[in-house]
Amino acid sequence: MSSSDTSHFFEQHGTKFILAQFVDIHGAAKAKTVPVKHFSDITGRGAGFAGFAITGMGIEPHGPDFMAVGDVSTLGNVSWQPGYARIVCDGHVDGKPWPHDPRVVLKRQVERLANRGLTFFTGLEPEFSLLKRTPEGGVAPFDDTDVLAKPCYDYKGLARAGNYLEKLVAALQGSEIDVFQIDHEDANGQFEVNYTFADCLRSCDQFMLFKMAASEIAHEQGLICSFMPKPFANRPGNGMHMHMSLGDGKRNLFEDKSDRRGLDLSKLAYQFLAGVLKHAPALTALCAPTVNSYKRLVIGRSLTGATWAPAYISYGDNNRSSMVRVPKGRLELRLPDGACNPYLATAAVIAAGLDGIDNELDPGDPQNMNLYELSDAQLKQKGIGILPQNLHAAVTALAQDGVIRETLGPVIDTFIELKHMEWIEYMRHVSDWELKSYLQSV
Ligand code: GLU
Ligand code: MG
Repeated sequence: MSSSDTSHFFEQHGTKFILAQFVDIHGAAKAKTVPVKHFSDITGRGAGFAGFAITGMGIEPHGPDFMAVGDVSTLGNVSWQPGYARIVCDGHVDGKPWPHDPRVVLKRQVERLANRGLTFFTGLEPEFSLLKRTPEGGVAPFDDTDVLAKPCYDYKGLARAGNYLEKLVAALQGSEIDVFQIDHEDANGQFEVNYTFADCLRSCDQFMLFKMAASEIAHEQGLICSFMPKPFANRPGNGMHMHMSLGDGKRNLFEDKSDRRGLDLSKLAYQFLAGVLKHAPALTALCAPTVNSYKRLVIGRSLTGATWAPAYISYGDNNRSSMVRVPKGRLELRLPDGACNPYLATAAVIAAGLDGIDNELDPGDPQNMNLYELSDAQLKQKGIGILPQNLHAAVTALAQDGVIRETLGPVIDTFIELKHMEWIEYMRHVSDWELKSYLQSV
């Protein structure tokens, strides 16, 4: 956008303030509010932040400021906050892009692809829980009548969330996010909103806007919108599936109708996929980054019958029990959850995929059976590995993966350190389950 275009944009939307927004290492949106007459400060030197105050930004208390420099192509209206626009920023320190900033990390991987004439497209699918506080101080699905054992696609549950969902969709449309489907998911109080895929940087920017809108609109209605991977032990969790393809500006290079395996995938797609499978344990730490994430990625059946979340390092045709599903001509990575930092997760996926391409890896044949049904012996015989089953195992795998670590740079060391501390803190707390199990039995 030129400066006359931006003036026109501000006039058209009645913009008074701009949110200069970026994310911390956990993928949480951070921002400053800047009056519109100072817009050029954000696109010039940037909005200044005390770097040490931002989690995982790799800046000490005596270090330089973190400057959030606006990417003008991301300027958009924040329609649920009238008078506000948002610009997504890249972190700069001492006038240079900062390698700890997650968006800068992703941009480096995007550049590696661009040097080969490639663009990575992703469609991120947000699942979330719409909840309320109970008088006892716990949380419950916001709608007391949403109690079916199998609530997936339920009409009544969907209709009764209409007030919230319509406001959310209007906000997304007001920010030029093209919503095409909304459903009630398989847990009570759980929904998914689908919108059109885009180049991976834009997809991450849009996902952040989605989270901002979804949380704030819920808050206005006295509700909680949560992307927590597994808010209820006995219900399916919240995923953030990533649909993936590579393009050359003209066509989808992952698609090949003559595929002998019948999945309409090209050799390039298989190589990318093989890289993703090879690095799956390390990717898990970035795609499923919380202690709670591993209550979603369980082996076998959950208390509801199915979790739909993957625990197996494999791919298959239209196979939702697999880590990668192939909806023909593209890949769906089912590993990420809503707690991930989308920029770091996407950057790691690109690094893994390029490793597969550079080493011309092949993922073997697809697994088209219900993997939840296989015994350990059958999985072993088929050579199907299991994803790390807790945060500690995933972070250890990331620490051991030289390709991902080196490609993504110093932010990964910081991530490992923070996640290690998170694991220790979790391990040291005493849960209700422990009290129930051991208080009087030992
Ligand atoms: N909620 C499931 C997950 O955690 C996914 C369900 C679906 O396939 O939409 O991944
Ligand atoms: Mg879903």
